[in-house]
Amino acid sequence: MDFDAKLIEKTIENLKKRQFNAVYVPDGQRAMELIKTMVKSGDLVARSGSVTLSRIGLDNFLKSGEFDYRDQARAKDEADKKRIVRRRFFADVFFSSANAIISDGRIYNEDGASTRVSALIYGPEKVVIVAGANKIVESQARAAARVKKVAPQNCKNNNFDTPCAVDGVCHDCFVPGRSCCTTAILNFSRIPGRINVIIVGQELGI
Ligand code: SF4
Repeated sequence: MDFDAKLIEKTIENLKKRQFNAVYVPDGQRAMELIKTMVKSGDLVARSGSVTLSRIGLDNFLKSGEFDYRDQARAKDEADKKRIVRRRFFADVFFSSANAIISDGRIYNEDGASTRVSALIYGPEKVVIVAGANKIVESQARAAARVKKVAPQNCKNNNFDTPCAVDGVCHDCFVPGRSCCTTAILNFSRIPGRINVIIVGQELGI
């Protein structure tokens, strides 16, 4: 897929104006090379669920034994899972993707349990967001529309008990398994460089 280089450049400039570090890399391999320079041995690291992060190969890196990392997928039970998720608020580095990056430099997310967006907002010393250039949109309305387009697919993939998982259409549902509970838009980082955005010139995530 060809991406609009000018749009990427403008987005990166605007992210920087909001005190987010932002950089473009052509592919997932370069993203991983960069990530390796952003984490120190022994760091407490955590990640959100993300197709993008899995795709670029972050899991093997986090599980290398060099870091203080606990894999949520290996939780012994629900209580252990909750403990692992709560650790992320004390992470040295927290990895996530984003649902959309608006070209004016704002970072748009929707979340179900809201454990991802809350850690983006506060807690971890450093946040690293990896997003394919396919996630750049030109307005907040388009970011919201993007989420409503991909959320049903995500619900289906995860076997969530939501009406959109059945018919692929958002019903603005009121069911316990709703995946769109919180909308969080990051407008600015008061701490310069706390949030690092890596835009990858590949179609990544859904
Ligand atoms: S609000 Fe409900 S129906 Fe709509 S996309 Fe989110 S989970 Fe699906």
